[in-house]
Amino acid sequence: MKASPAAGPRRTPLEPWVLARAGASDLAGLRRYQLRALRETVARAKTRSPFYATHLDGLEPGDIRSLEDLARLPFTTADDVRREGMRLLCVGAGDVERIVTLTTSETTGAPKRIHFSAADQELTLDFFHRGMSVLVDPGDRVLILLPGERPGGVGDLLRRALARMDVEGVVRGPVTDAQEALGALGDGRFDAVVGIPVQVLGLARRDALAGDPVRLKSVLLSTDHAPEALVRAIESTWGCRVFDHYGTTEMGLGGGVECEAHAGYHLREADLLFEVVDLDNGVALPDGEYGEVVFTTLTREAMPLLRYRTGDRSRFVPAACPCGSRLRVLERVRTRLAGRVRLGSGAVLDLAAMDEALFALPNVLDVHAGVAGASSVAGDGAAATLKIDILVAGTEDDRCAFERRAGRALAEVPAVAGAVYAHQLVVEVAATDGPWTGTNGTMKRMLSQAHSPEVRA
Ligand SMILES: [Zn+2]
Repeated sequence: MKASPAAGPRRTPLEPWVLARAGASDLAGLRRYQLRALRETVARAKTRSPFYATHLDGLEPGDIRSLEDLARLPFTTADDVRREGMRLLCVGAGDVERIVTLTTSETTGAPKRIHFSAADQELTLDFFHRGMSVLVDPGDRVLILLPGERPGGVGDLLRRALARMDVEGVVRGPVTDAQEALGALGDGRFDAVVGIPVQVLGLARRDALAGDPVRLKSVLLSTDHAPEALVRAIESTWGCRVFDHYGTTEMGLGGGVECEAHAGYHLREADLLFEVVDLDNGVALPDGEYGEVVFTTLTREAMPLLRYRTGDRSRFVPAACPCGSRLRVLERVRTRLAGRVRLGSGAVLDLAAMDEALFALPNVLDVHAGVAGASSVAGDGAAATLKIDILVAGTEDDRCAFERRAGRALAEVPAVAGAVYAHQLVVEVAATDGPWTGTNGTMKRMLSQAHSPEVRA
């Protein structure tokens, strides 16, 4: 019971850290800590934030008697953060150490500005330190291909967190020139790489094509969802283990990270309380059921967020983690709700299944997919067009043959096949070896959608 078998996955180091932070010796103690921290957060938000004073009107901290009472709190949305801005703050402007401005392609209007105090930044550093101990060891060197080279940015925080465990982090920022990044990787005697999934895949596949690829101990993928096929390709090229990190700026950059069992994320449970809620009525769902991921900050000083809707779709894994940890496991996030397109036939298309089919093809570096003319009106007769653009390494291959192959791979995706069979969908595939404008570095990849005017509600 105490130790995993020698060959089995090592228990996540997040567990002793989370329990120690909560002053708990077991799960019941952790839940008592979370309840206490939730009440304190509600009390603080109500008295210090003009937004929450109104938003939580009629609700007292004493009304929260169990963690189930979390459901009595209203959600906080991205629009609230965008619209209310500084009114969410619980500290004076002088206590704000860092502001991260988020612009998204999803909406127009004011950007989101997330504020952090020095104490908030320290909690992120602490999580990065414990989270990275899953995949690197003292003495290792890590190439960091994430933005934020400046003090307080994500790359910089990660570098400082690694230094706490005697690991050297080299921050290069997102990949803008693949050959240059590959050169740095080849020369740097690195043990691990941290980066954005498609960017890291692009490096691995180019490295393989150039011959004699580097060998790495581990890779951490962050910022966007990581298709399984992409993970397998990186693992086989560099002979490494690939771990997935889940985190958004709103979570305080870090939310959770996989353990060696790769069964899903163990979460930063002393700082964040996660729920999965029903998409239609907002009710918290039992483990095993898919819904929207919602989190509440328990220790955030500058800008607490209560029941913040992430727009990510996932579920809690109902089984205990094979690593032996008692912490909850959130299944790897594969898709954003905004990236799901409902066809007239009722079929739902999203990028995740297409990604699995397409990234499994050799030499695929990136995929962009868009649906035009999709209608949410059931029974609408018009067919939508699924347009797939694929960036492929190398110019040797017959492009038409590759496009046919990609088309056949897509036909294996049940939602695509069903919609094509029902004459609801036409698929167009185009492959290129560049130039490529499909992905903008740190932006999350999504199935883009363009409604045709006549079916717009
Ligand atoms: Zn585990």
